[in-house]
Amino acid sequence: MPDSFAPVLTVDLGAILANYRLLCTQVRPGLCGVAMKADAYAVGAAMVAPHLKRAGCNHFFVATVDEGLALRQVLPQFDGGARIYLLNGLPPGAERDIAGGDLIPILNSMAEIERWQAFVRAAGSRPAGLQFDTGLNRLGLGRDDSLRLIGDPHLLNGLDIAVVMSHLACADDPEHPANRLQLDRFREIADNLTAPSLVTGGRTRPLLSLAASSSIFLGADYHFDLVRPGAALYGINPVLGAPNPLQPVVRLQAKILQLREVDLNMTVGYGASHQVRGPTVLATIGVGYADGIFRSLGSRGAVYVAGQRAPIVGRISMDLITVDVGHLPASVCQPGMSVDFIGPDQSIDDLARDAGTIGYELLTHLGTRFQRRYVGAGA
Ligand SMILES: *Cc1c(COP(=O)(O)O)cnc(C)c1O
Repeated sequence: MPDSFAPVLTVDLGAILANYRLLCTQVRPGLCGVAMKADAYAVGAAMVAPHLKRAGCNHFFVATVDEGLALRQVLPQFDGGARIYLLNGLPPGAERDIAGGDLIPILNSMAEIERWQAFVRAAGSRPAGLQFDTGLNRLGLGRDDSLRLIGDPHLLNGLDIAVVMSHLACADDPEHPANRLQLDRFREIADNLTAPSLVTGGRTRPLLSLAASSSIFLGADYHFDLVRPGAALYGINPVLGAPNPLQPVVRLQAKILQLREVDLNMTVGYGASHQVRGPTVLATIGVGYADGIFRSLGSRGAVYVAGQRAPIVGRISMDLITVDVGHLPASVCQPGMSVDFIGPDQSIDDLARDAGTIGYELLTHLGTRFQRRYVGAGA
């Protein structure tokens, strides 16, 4: 018997595909890949990836080797050649697993380049990517190494470079001067690495890739050959402060377990942090911080009950949350009925803002206790 008190995470595969098609349209004639790290931002990589593949996507980005190998299980090599890239680079000793899974490591340092060169010299040529750090100062070849490689392309001997990429620091702010600066640095590197003198002897020109979700909306200058959006695909707004051009993908619902009448001078929850100011009714909801509903939402955020706002009162517990429903009709507020945390009346971005975080963190924190339901796209 399914647990009818369990919280429910509904993922709309049709909306993911609609978002994918919109992003494709934005970047045409460039290619649209997808970021699938952290289990496709917790919506379920194994469920989502085959649909995207059928919709024409051939470029999948994950962070780690394990994520890549798991994704390869649902995107077989013989099935039209889905490429899987490992953003976090080449862990020492992982070369065989990476080759076995037909994964493409993104090399982030001279040491990784040298290790992959030694491996392919012995094991045969296999594609890799190169990441250049153009100002994020996080991962990738730094300025000195970049200049060395451009000055002495022989350092890249033996490499079959499938993709040359970089990542922007401030793409969610279209006015930020760092965007243009990073674009110029990337273009300079790209021009050098795609020079005809380098792309000879039957070697293919690497795909150039700079943009993730937000940078797609900075304009065509940022698109190059291949973009790699994650957030936008899963319905997070890529353009801060503007209407979201993407469709919502997730709905997050939990059940009312109990109703309780309270009155003046009573307190609610741990630490007695909420003081009741008059007669009202509380609903206790079966979801908590163990499910990824941030504790910072205590006495801050709200849920929606049949389209009406019900404020969260008192602290968030591990498995329970209390909301004030005194103003709502009893017909919509009964044990077993659902309330929305994310849904038609409150977006991921709304709830994340109330929690003091961003949609990315909210989505990737959603725990294992949700019943995951997939709808749309013939799911
Ligand atoms: C996570 C990530 C992406 C996808 O970013 P979104 O903002 O979710 O679109 C793309 N590229 C790199 C290097 C990343 O780490």
